[in-house]
Amino acid sequence: MYAFPRSIKSARHAILTCTYAGMLLFTSTIHAEPPQTTLPDCSTILPSEYQWQALDWSHLRAADLQRVFKIFPDQQPDCARDAAMCSEAESKRSIEVDVDVFFQDSAIWSKPEQLQSYMALVNRYYQQARITFNFKFRPANELPTWAENRNQLTIIFAAAMPAPAGKVADAFGNLPAGKAVFNDVLMQRQDRHANPYFLMGKPLGHELGHVLGLAHTQDKALLMTQGTSSQNALDILPEQALIMRVMALQRFGGKLDPVSTCH
Ligand SMILES: [Zn+2]
Repeated sequence: MYAFPRSIKSARHAILTCTYAGMLLFTSTIHAEPPQTTLPDCSTILPSEYQWQALDWSHLRAADLQRVFKIFPDQQPDCARDAAMCSEAESKRSIEVDVDVFFQDSAIWSKPEQLQSYMALVNRYYQQARITFNFKFRPANELPTWAENRNQLTIIFAAAMPAPAGKVADAFGNLPAGKAVFNDVLMQRQDRHANPYFLMGKPLGHELGHVLGLAHTQDKALLMTQGTSSQNALDILPEQALIMRVMALQRFGGKLDPVSTCH
């Protein structure tokens, strides 16, 4: 069985430490000349046991990203029109985005404790894109209809809920609705678990990737490859990171880290 590393806390600690250092820098420079080289290197803010390092997308422009990486490309922001927002997405600043989480008649999942380790894992590998999800478990009586709250990232753990096209899949993520669904009995089939990340660890981030605008890719190491394989490594490409950052900021209320903490 896969044991989840405990470094999400240490990663947060490192980031907070980095933020704190940035604040100290700010206050100390109000009445003084700005220091020349004081910002910490972002590549060092993640602890060494962290398997997924932040990617470098500095060579990319959001306006030029290929359609092949995108799902529903016509519903994605036009960076030629919203250059300022896309420029923020191109920065190295961290983005936080809220995700509402609901249980809908699932026979398997009914308690947040069953899922929190997977959510911690998702937040670990999404540091490749410098995106952090604030998962918020919501009461069932607040469950939106499919057409509601399209600009709020939403996850539903359900009993056999069909995708918009009518098919019942293990899980699916739908950009137009802003929602991802995980179907309990289908998802839990043990013969489908070809690696220790599969059981919710990969599907959670994969379906969020679809909602954040990503299409499937072929490389089995990538998060957005379809299905499950022992070669899965939950990797994200710099192009994919940038697509998701644009979507998180423009569509789903993502917030940039208020302090530019590192370079
Ligand atoms: Zn998929």
